[in-house]
Amino acid sequence: MFQVVFLGTSASAPSVDRGLSANLVLHRDHRFLVDCGEGTQRQLLRSGLGFRKLDTVLLTHGHLDHILGLGGLVSTFSRWESITNLSIYGGQWALERVEDLMKVVLRGGEVDIGIDLCAIHAGVIWENEAMRIAAFPVSHRGPGCYGYLFEERGHRPFLAEEADRLGVPRGPERKRLVQGESVTLADGAVIAPDQVLGEEIRGARLVHVGDAGRTDNLLEVCRDADALIIEATYLDNEAEMAERFGHLTARQAAELAAAAGVGCLFLVHISRRYSERDVAREARAIHPNTIVPRDLDHYTISRGAVERVET
Ligand SMILES: [Zn+2]
Ligand SMILES: [Zn+2]
Repeated sequence: MFQVVFLGTSASAPSVDRGLSANLVLHRDHRFLVDCGEGTQRQLLRSGLGFRKLDTVLLTHGHLDHILGLGGLVSTFSRWESITNLSIYGGQWALERVEDLMKVVLRGGEVDIGIDLCAIHAGVIWENEAMRIAAFPVSHRGPGCYGYLFEERGHRPFLAEEADRLGVPRGPERKRLVQGESVTLADGAVIAPDQVLGEEIRGARLVHVGDAGRTDNLLEVCRDADALIIEATYLDNEAEMAERFGHLTARQAAELAAAAGVGCLFLVHISRRYSERDVAREARAIHPNTIVPRDLDHYTISRGAVERVET
């Protein structure tokens, strides 16, 4: 199960109600900050989650409304927080801009923090025994824009009845079978894992796209995702403008979600030009399970289910 806390859901400039792009994705003990617009520090504090264990940042692209908050965050980490190292993943162009920003922040050596700028390409960029994150290219203005697929590893359920039938005793033998090892029983029979493990059940899948100018190249990665977080900067009546600036309309985002069989669609990067209700209405006509989250909204994403966490 993943958790998502929407920290900033406004497009380009903040509004009274919405901060600039930043979302926190949580999985067990791990926290991933996706983008870090100006004002993200305060949103982290307001969310109640704070800065703890926040050592990994994933950037969708290098536009200022997605990266400017890194300056303040690094400054705070280096002076008052226990975080001594920050890994920032992104495309080459985004990282060059972050490097320029860090020159200002780190100038004079008063800031003491290790910063790893990790240039990414399409493919797995982070993984552990329970989940992995894969980057995939996104078309927006400028080179090196990426989205991120968060995917829990699948597992094969242990078929206890089958193990009983085969005479596998309860205890360490069963544990070894689950771990993929064959075991030899007291009567000499060898039991292989395949005999007592069912078909693989996939884990939760969450796709996070930042700003995007087209959706045809996102269809495959979004296929059957439990949740998709994607921008909807414009409405259909300004589709021409969306195209000119490399952004999506709510309609386009919803059409992608519907075509890909996405469970729940979250629309972010909301322009001050529109009401939240109009954005939701346009998308829901095509993909009924659409949410336009507000800053600090918190959701859990499991296989086949998205639920709101009341805070
Ligand atoms: Zn943006
Ligand atoms: Zn952008």
